[in-house]
Amino acid sequence: MKRTADVIIVGTGASGLFCALHLPKSMSVLMITKEDATLSDSYLAQGGISTLKGKEDYQSYYEDTMKAGHYENNPESVEIMIKSSPVIIEELVQYGVDFDKNGEEIAYTREGGHSKFRIMHHKDITGEEITSKLYERVKERENVRIIEHTMMLDIIEENGICRGIVVCEEDGTIHPYFANNIVLATGGVGGLFEHSTNFRHLTADSLAIALRHKIALENINYIQIHPTTLYSKKPGRRFLISESVRGEGAILLNKDGERFVDELLPRDVVTEAIRQQMKKDQSDHVYMSVKHLDKKELLTHFPNIYERCMEEGYDMTKDLIPVTPSQHYFMGGIKVDKDSATSMPYLYAVGETSCNGVHGKNRLASNSLLEALVFAERAAKKISEQKGSLKEVDVDLSQYSSKEQIQKEYCNIVLEEIKRRDGEFYDKWCHNEASAG
Ligand SMILES: Cc1cc2nc3c(=O)[nH]c(=O)nc-3n(C[C@H](O)[C@H](O)[C@H](O)COP(=O)(O)OP(=O)(O)OC[C@H]3O[C@@H](n4cnc5c(N)ncnc54)[C@H](O)[C@@H]3O)c2cc1C
Repeated sequence: MKRTADVIIVGTGASGLFCALHLPKSMSVLMITKEDATLSDSYLAQGGISTLKGKEDYQSYYEDTMKAGHYENNPESVEIMIKSSPVIIEELVQYGVDFDKNGEEIAYTREGGHSKFRIMHHKDITGEEITSKLYERVKERENVRIIEHTMMLDIIEENGICRGIVVCEEDGTIHPYFANNIVLATGGVGGLFEHSTNFRHLTADSLAIALRHKIALENINYIQIHPTTLYSKKPGRRFLISESVRGEGAILLNKDGERFVDELLPRDVVTEAIRQQMKKDQSDHVYMSVKHLDKKELLTHFPNIYERCMEEGYDMTKDLIPVTPSQHYFMGGIKVDKDSATSMPYLYAVGETSCNGVHGKNRLASNSLLEALVFAERAAKKISEQKGSLKEVDVDLSQYSSKEQIQKEYCNIVLEEIKRRDGEFYDKWCHNEASAG
């Protein structure tokens, strides 16, 4: 098998796929992924993707994003994201993505922190609709090869330049792969936490690798806890009850059936209110109620959430739903510029793995898919302009003995760094965290 390409993309979520689609067809592209190509958080996105509805919405959208991010956002990145959004949506439609409509009009929804209805969606499975269409389009590209069940163990560095990656293939053998440019699109950090909405295999490998290679990181302790995930004692991924359910009128109740917070406040504020309430109630959950909402509307807009709650024994049209906060999203990451370039030449990072400052301290709902696509496209454009530098260098593979051992080490490296940066966050949320798996 050929283990060189013009571009290697690690990760087959929305950011990796969108990047591949925007690279010229004349470039050979190799994509690898740890699991099946369809097992990525991008498939899990429920609520939708934000967009600028018109010039008159700009100031309001900008302000909502900055406010949610505690004004720690990078203003230039926010401006780029918002202004690029109509083109991105148009491209998605061209790729075959179907957004919900009311008759001829787009059916916009709203989530916590948004002062306007500006979120486009496909029922409550927007991520699956978008990512599956991107995946189909990528499979049609003759210049792109996707290899599944293949894990990046390291990057290959020569004199401070990225030359390729070290990979563990499906049969357990370890090989160097070389390319002119490498794009890390490895998603978030949820696999490090016991309670997370993320896939368990998203264990922040890129961050550990970046730390080892002294690649600049940013805000590694800015980790979003989602206020409302379905409470369950079962192990594994926590099921998210999207903010758009609150956007459509769901209320939160304490053990006495009383409301205790404005449900449409930004995520971090609602999360803290729930945490305080659970303490007062001496409980590990609070309740969400949608019983007062129109049943037909609920079933049309949230069929997936309805079904998943039913599986756990709750009919959301009649019962209170127990909910609890869980790790959900990573605002920090590998520090990148507005073209997604990292501090190491020929190495790019896109999507949740990267930090271009769009989200500041706290992400505004439905801004992550958009951010991932906008800056993945910019990375592709930048890479397209570059001349090749392919160089196959010697790599000592004996240091990569066991994939499992490396995985465990990487989890510890990242958790230790989070603890070092923010002991309070670590004590609050990383307690009891499972090691990778
Ligand atoms: C339940 C849920 C609901 C969400 N809802 C929304 C929403 O409504 N709107 C919104 O905007 N955002 C939402 N998000 C966030 C959004 O889905 C993600 O931020 C975004 O899709 C991340 O895309 P990505 O391409 O960066 O990473 P992912 O889609 O997570 O893809 C990561 C890829 O990297 C691969 N990978 C990881 N490590 C390695 C390695 N070492 N070697 C090889 N491959 C590796 C994985 O296998 C995977 O293919 C939601 C997230 C979750 C979990």
